[in-house]
Amino acid sequence: MTNEFDLIRQYFTHAPKRTVLGVGDDAALIRAGNGQLLAVAVDMLVAGRHFFKDADPESVGHKALAVNLSDMAAMGAMPRWATMGIALPRADARWVAAFSKGFMALARKHGVDLIGGDTTRGPLNICVQIIGEVPARQALRRDGAKAGDDIWLSGTLGDAALAVAARSRRIQLKPAERKQAMQRLDWPQPRVALGLALRGVARSAIDISDGLIADLGHICERSNVAAVVAFERLPVSVLLRRHLQSTVAQSAVITGGDDYELCFTAAPAKQTAVESAALRARTKVTRIGRVVRAPAGACSVAVVDGDGLPLALKQKGFDHFG
Ligand code: ADP
Ligand code: MG
Repeated sequence: MTNEFDLIRQYFTHAPKRTVLGVGDDAALIRAGNGQLLAVAVDMLVAGRHFFKDADPESVGHKALAVNLSDMAAMGAMPRWATMGIALPRADARWVAAFSKGFMALARKHGVDLIGGDTTRGPLNICVQIIGEVPARQALRRDGAKAGDDIWLSGTLGDAALAVAARSRRIQLKPAERKQAMQRLDWPQPRVALGLALRGVARSAIDISDGLIADLGHICERSNVAAVVAFERLPVSVLLRRHLQSTVAQSAVITGGDDYELCFTAAPAKQTAVESAALRARTKVTRIGRVVRAPAGACSVAVVDGDGLPLALKQKGFDHFG
């Protein structure tokens, strides 16, 4: 079956002419002329697909900007300007007021100016473009990973996917647990400070929007390497750990999207530099695995258990990505 990446590769990837980095990373890079690169990204949020139709509009506004800030973080870029296209089913001032409150609170926190956009009637749909700055050669790209690099992850994984699983009754959570997981899903905290602190330290980076396996897989493909990740090292919240016996929770950790953590690689010699970058950014980071040479172009991600055996062999629930 054709997936979104096949479509992008086939129809939307054209050799760029005046571009440092085009399609295929968390943001495009173009030269700004003052030794800086502009990092440009756009993300669309569709009601019923990227957020629940009954979601708190303030959280929708927050998330619409947060997912874009996360792409800036993944590039090591300082976010500066945003534009927004929005389609609304009706001119519901109360909804828009709450939406804008969530959007603008996060914009102010990160010093981002909303400089334009487009407002129209239509099925609820929000498209935010963001522009940031990063000094030339310091951008954290997906194609810089090298065999031997450590693989690092910020924060914890899986809570957002756990919330989705609870809503669709694939897992039972207590009301307080559910609230906590929904908080992660609805109010993602983009790791902008960490992205900035990792300039010149990390060799590659991506943000986890589609799940660890998929997103680390993008680093591997672009860098022509493979990755081995230890399941037991994957950082999870206290809440998630409580449910870790369930295959639904296990899948949430390794394939669940919407966490917006940063996954990055760095040379082992940079371990102390990574740790002090994390301290400066007040963000927890965990070493989760290692970049290895790709056997015959197989740029895959293996998740292994404590014995170093691929999880897919032991756990039936995992074989769709094993
Ligand atoms: P992310 O998850 O970081 O937002 P995506 O997985 O959505 O990135 O997209 C992968 C790459 O493909 C990005 O570089 C993105 O800019 C590019 N891309 C996606 N859709 C299109 C499109 N319709 N036209 C051009 N480029 C696209
Ligand atoms: Mg991204």
